[in-house]
Amino acid sequence: MFRKYSATWIMPLDRPPIKNGIVVVDNDGTILEVIDTGGKVNEQERLEYHSGILVPGFVNAHCHLELSWMKGLIPEKIGLVSFIGEINKLRKDVSEKDVLKAARNADVRMYHDGISLTGDISNSSITADIKAKSRISWYNFVEVFGFHPSRADRALDMAMEIWGEYNRLGLKASIVPHAPYSVSESLFKKLDLLDDVKGGVVSIHNQESHDEDRFFKSGDGRLPFHYSQNLGLDISHWKPTGQSSLRSVLPYLNSNKSLLLVHNTFMEENDLSYLIKTRDSENTYLVLCPAANLYIEDKLPPLDLFRHYRMKICLGTDSLASNHSLSILNEMLILQENFPDIHLSEMLSWACLNGAKALGMEHQFGSITPGKKPGLALIKGADLQELRLTKRSSVKRLA
Ligand SMILES: [Zn+2]
Repeated sequence: MFRKYSATWIMPLDRPPIKNGIVVVDNDGTILEVIDTGGKVNEQERLEYHSGILVPGFVNAHCHLELSWMKGLIPEKIGLVSFIGEINKLRKDVSEKDVLKAARNADVRMYHDGISLTGDISNSSITADIKAKSRISWYNFVEVFGFHPSRADRALDMAMEIWGEYNRLGLKASIVPHAPYSVSESLFKKLDLLDDVKGGVVSIHNQESHDEDRFFKSGDGRLPFHYSQNLGLDISHWKPTGQSSLRSVLPYLNSNKSLLLVHNTFMEENDLSYLIKTRDSENTYLVLCPAANLYIEDKLPPLDLFRHYRMKICLGTDSLASNHSLSILNEMLILQENFPDIHLSEMLSWACLNGAKALGMEHQFGSITPGKKPGLALIKGADLQELRLTKRSSVKRLA
């Protein structure tokens, strides 16, 4: 049995917006047909008409589901290094029950808010069961840390174990480095040697604070203090490279694999031009999490620069530790308010299509294309003349 959905606008993303178009969907969510009605839709059997903009399900390219219980616990605008300190303190004191309850609620909420696919950072397998039963599809990034070289083998062993749990449940997963400043050279090298099954898509937090570049360029800033005083680590082996963090670690990130650079809040133009020179732009993605950037550093990434260089942009929510909601619509609204020239169709290509490509799931997600199963979401309360979001905009899942 099929159903037909029509709305004031359909934005399929594989073709221009269609006024009063119709999307025919199979029982299992597969798109059967997209019909251009020439703007006139007649009443017909099994047709649901909605006022609003019908879009494919969103792709949240960066989330940490297992941190959902931290909602509202960390003060805003304290800077990344203090934020990480707070995360470490909170982590010691939580029950498994509370972690699971918050993660379960967040999973359901994200589904209803139109998210169909999520790239999720996992430091454990605690959310694996939730993901196996979820109506959202999950690509899991099993993340490793290890600033001191002596930790490399143990960090990788632990990650292999977690990866194994995801693999047993049939969930997609790869093992990835946390950030340039938290992974030693020897751990980077070991990660680079992983086969495509364990390290197919690579994700890394990048230039989320100014301290990260300072640590690499000159060795100062707040990171060395954090490592030596807060964590009690021996940092005597650390030698600044004299270059930005991104340039310093890019040689360890396999250029044949898809790479998601997450945040990029403090990325500079020379890093962008270097990135373009050294990597294929087809498999290099910049994932932006504007709400989390405002929450932690009170700064937005240089989006005009990214667009100037025609970078492939994706959107993510980061976790509820640094965001008030896990809503891709809200991330788009923040961008529209701060960069008013960007058209909704461009932002939707970031919020849907690019995320699906980045996670290697474009065959199923990202656009309303016959044969795909992207999910359907309705954006209500938008400006339907200008095709822009407004403060009243909200999202409702239709299929
Ligand atoms: Zn993150």
